[in-house]
Amino acid sequence: MGQLTAEIVPVTPFQQNCCLLFDDETRVGVVVDPGGDVDRIVAAIDRLGLSIEAIWLTHGHIDHAGGAMALKQALGGVAIIGPHQADRMLLERIEEQAKMFGVPGTYANATPDRWLEEGDELGFGSHRFTVLHCPGHSPGHVVFVDPDARFVHVGDVLFAGSVGRTDLPGGDHAALIASIKMKLLPLGDDYGFICGHGPGGRLGEERRSNPFLVGASSA
Ligand SMILES: [Zn+2]
Ligand SMILES: [Zn+2]
Repeated sequence: MGQLTAEIVPVTPFQQNCCLLFDDETRVGVVVDPGGDVDRIVAAIDRLGLSIEAIWLTHGHIDHAGGAMALKQALGGVAIIGPHQADRMLLERIEEQAKMFGVPGTYANATPDRWLEEGDELGFGSHRFTVLHCPGHSPGHVVFVDPDARFVHVGDVLFAGSVGRTDLPGGDHAALIASIKMKLLPLGDDYGFICGHGPGGRLGEERRSNPFLVGASSA
């Protein structure tokens, strides 16, 4: 069994961290949040010699899901898994989001092959992930937790020194903070995270110093 490894490919004008998660020995893995620039994602997959089994989506915003259908096609029809079905409306309006934000590029509405629920189990090879439903940034946002690697992909729920915006349709700041304090921080201070924009970090550092989370207790 190899190590869980992550390669970030920044995509779209939003500089979203499209994330290739894979096993460094078998080279089998998944793509999390292919927002766009699918040619660059495919080039990274080829360069790293990866065999991609599925596309996982944290939520339905254009910068995370806008390239999902094109990547699915480019990879021979792999399944699109997630997010929670509460984001169905966002996924059906990706092309509308492209117009609303006026972003250049090609984006398509996405139809997942499988919706995710709190507690679902996912994985590839010997790497197992638990799904947590973390609403607030969007109603159907999910995160992917690998307890063995002490790793969580948090999407746009939490950032280094900040939290997800909640001014978009379906956003709810109180729900977002509750998701972070009740589901993410209890995972443990030592958990490493990758987020949708900017650098990742450790949950303990966010618990101690993130201005949005001051006063949160440790796990
Ligand atoms: Zn988002
Ligand atoms: Zn985003």
